[in-house]
Amino acid sequence: MYNWKFDQSKVSDIINKKYKELGSKIDKTIEYEKSNMFFSCKTNNHRYKFEKASEYNFSCSKFGESLNYQDNADIIVDLLNKKVKYKSLNKSQHKYHSYTH
Ligand SMILES: [Zn+2]
Repeated sequence: MYNWKFDQSKVSDIINKKYKELGSKIDKTIEYEKSNMFFSCKTNNHRYKFEKASEYNFSCSKFGESLNYQDNADIIVDLLNKKVKYKSLNKSQHKYHSYTH
């Protein structure tokens, strides 16, 4: 019985840690998206950071097609939504954790 309880809280800790890791991963990606300008080619959606795109004279390194500025606002919104989702999952995990004790 003691062991079962111990394992239960350990599992909960691991899950909480995982959500925290995912949360900070999302934070980092959001920062990355916000602080960079991206360019892409229509042929195969290659994505270039501004620095790389200018290095290739704004043409795709594979097909030579011209690169277009890519608005990543949608991607950032998507990431922010994911972050909210993970936060609420993390919270419900806490609720579950306290309920079982
Ligand atoms: Zn391409």
